[in-house]
Amino acid sequence: MRKPLIAANWKMYKTPAEAVAFTEAFLPLTASNRHAEIVLFPSATSLPAVIDAIHSSHIRVGGQDMHWLDEGAYTGATSPIMLKALGCTHVLIGHSERRQYFGETDETVNRKLKSALAHHLVPIVCVGEHLAERESSHTASVLKRQVAAALLGVDPNHAAPLVIAYEPVWAIGTGLTATPEIAEEAHKIIRAQVAASLNSIVAASTRILYGGSVKPENASSLCRLSDIDGALVGGASLDPSSFAQIVHNAMA
Ligand code: PEP
Repeated sequence: MRKPLIAANWKMYKTPAEAVAFTEAFLPLTASNRHAEIVLFPSATSLPAVIDAIHSSHIRVGGQDMHWLDEGAYTGATSPIMLKALGCTHVLIGHSERRQYFGETDETVNRKLKSALAHHLVPIVCVGEHLAERESSHTASVLKRQVAAALLGVDPNHAAPLVIAYEPVWAIGTGLTATPEIAEEAHKIIRAQVAASLNSIVAASTRILYGGSVKPENASSLCRLSDIDGALVGGASLDPSSFAQIVHNAMA
């Protein structure tokens, strides 16, 4: 069985004080949740405060990005051992905003994924097509290429925590959401590529999340589909009651 995972990507929003205020409001709203893994991805500067605030709760915390190396002369970067030392359990890898604005490539995604697995961080690898790629019928080839490149050289025996997020770029922060049919079809393509790159056992246990303008109103229709194992939420995760409602509706 794949445990549903609902993740909040706060991007470059919230000071530590604002992040703690969110957490204090959010915890009681989801205290009865026993079924979903809930993960918050604050900005790097808010990680210590949020990890402190969620202490001994059911919530987990992860980094929005990391370098693949343990240490080195890489100004501005955060290493996997730094995330682990803070108490992070998860890490986002290859978000489309990292690919678009910070030069993330399929190759760096692959390095980061291998590093996260080696450090026992749960990696959420983001893939997704641009609007022009969808309109020119290249969605399947883009998804296969991104997943195959991310998984190149990954040992299937050590891939177990792998999570992939299908995030069509045209749906991120735009208010446009993939229909359940579009999302389900993309998730099947991704799962088939995980089977081809690793094996069918890993593919069957890999959680594939949908991301792209998930809101309380659409969480249920997306997350009830058999190949959709949860959601990666941006804008609607910034408000505690909206994100709690998404968790609730996704499990309904
Ligand atoms: C995201 O940033 O991963 C995301 C899905 O954003 P939004 O929900 O705002 O579209």
